[in-house]
Amino acid sequence: MTTVAQILRSKSDNTVYTIAPEAPVLEAVRLMAERNIGALLVKDGATIVGIVTERDYARKVILLARSSRDTPVRDIMTSNVLCVRPGQTSDECMALMTDRRLRHLPVMEDGRLTGLVSIGDLVKDVIAEQKFVIEQLQHYIAGEVR
Ligand code: AMP
Repeated sequence: MTTVAQILRSKSDNTVYTIAPEAPVLEAVRLMAERNIGALLVKDGATIVGIVTERDYARKVILLARSSRDTPVRDIMTSNVLCVRPGQTSDECMALMTDRRLRHLPVMEDGRLTGLVSIGDLVKDVIAEQKFVIEQLQHYIAGEVR
């Protein structure tokens, strides 16, 4: 079973992009677009104070006809950030995402932010695992057990 630490090692970029709570939502959306990501950790200095995702923007800005220039990130972020540890498994992450209906899990180790696992990272991992099993079965069927 793949662990969060293994998933992080397989990622080409482990930067966790962050934004300040007082920054305008427009800046958050611009940063997400530039980096091709769907979530930003909200940091007040060194402290994580929330998470903001494209879904927050869609539901709390666009749908309510609020201005993305005049609305600060703190007004649309989620304050109780759910995190995982490097030793947790991809299955545990998937269960958390399904139960809590979220798609981004920051990774914390000894109080330090070490990465972020998205649903896309988990799907990639599941596909790789399934590909491995299929290849093993094909070898088995062909009589070349390894
Ligand atoms: P997402 O599906 O990740 O775009 O997020 C759906 C909702 O859950 C949004 O309101 C996010 O702010 C919130 N959210 C996303 N990830 C987390 C997390 N790790 N902890 C707490 N809330 C989150």
